[in-house]
Amino acid sequence: MENLDIKKIEDWGMNLQNPLWIAGPCSAETEEQVLGIATALKDSDISVFRAGIWKPRTRPGSFEGVGSEGLEWLMKAKKILNKPVSTEVANGKHVEEALKAGIDILWLGARTTVNPFSVQEVCDALKGTDIPVLVKNPINPDLQLWIGAIERLAQAGIDKIGAIHRGFSVNVPTRFRNKPEWSYPIHLKRLFPSLTVISDPSHICGNREMIEEISQRALNFGIDGLMIETHTNPDSAWSDAKQQVTPDVLNKILSNLELRQSIEDAPEFKSELDQLRENVDILDHQIIETLSERFKAIVKIGDYKSDHNLAVFQKDRWDEVIQSRINEATGKGLSEKFIKNILMDIHEESIRLQESRLSDLKNKKVDA
Ligand code: PEP
Ligand code: MN
Repeated sequence: MENLDIKKIEDWGMNLQNPLWIAGPCSAETEEQVLGIATALKDSDISVFRAGIWKPRTRPGSFEGVGSEGLEWLMKAKKILNKPVSTEVANGKHVEEALKAGIDILWLGARTTVNPFSVQEVCDALKGTDIPVLVKNPINPDLQLWIGAIERLAQAGIDKIGAIHRGFSVNVPTRFRNKPEWSYPIHLKRLFPSLTVISDPSHICGNREMIEEISQRALNFGIDGLMIETHTNPDSAWSDAKQQVTPDVLNKILSNLELRQSIEDAPEFKSELDQLRENVDILDHQIIETLSERFKAIVKIGDYKSDHNLAVFQKDRWDEVIQSRINEATGKGLSEKFIKNILMDIHEESIRLQESRLSDLKNKKVDA
């Protein structure tokens, strides 16, 4: 991949703090709501205010945003905060109106990044301007689409580009609204070292309870900032009510977070070893995720066996599993003894889970 001309955030000429904290409501609802939130965030550590004006909703009939009228409210919020304001754009008309109103930073939503036609339309409208644009990851875990949108912006002459990691929609049950898949933003940072990559724990979690935990994880992974949806009355928000926090909670989260030194700030640690360790962290994380998915699949099989009165332990199947895994693993240079031990532990745990599931189900039937 050719090197893209992407400016570091310090060179955007906007005096943005590092890490970059962005906060504000999911949607602008009324002028009072926007200005109320801006006032409540006046003394916070945020660098940028956010509010969605045009809301891409999965189903028609949900609140689709207040439209252009909200741009003026954002500009009033800017005066209150004396800080830049940002909103989402999804087509050429949005870009024109946002630029005309004086919005400082734009972002592409996850539903836009998936569509190269829309991304290109936005880029065409941006040609000749100098506004910073943040690109949310696409809905599905596809790094190429994310990279593609960044490349289209760079080709349109935008050099103040950032990325927002908001998690991915995946077809397996997880505790997240959108699974983080940390290796994706980390990969992006590696590909484009000058790119600012922040996380959006609100859309990752889908609930306010997990936001602090996921924000800390993001910082641990070396993410450069956070976008957190903030509302003075989250429960009555017109969109994404469950995942918004109050300005007070936002301040608490931000002050509890432990900041991690970036490698650039501590050149003495900028060694090959650190990079290797980071890699190991990601791989371990993937092992844990995979094991957790495997055990979920095992429980499903357990339920099926129980419904059909089949024994938990099926010897032929196990012999076949162990032999094929050993062949695969030894082919990749792992020792037979090592992989056998791991497989035995996994198998033991699988049987334990299926048995306990079986007795749970039996007890339920007895209760019923
Ligand atoms: C949003 O930021 O409110 C939004 C719609 O997010 P996403 O594009 O990540 O779904
Ligand atoms: Mn939202």
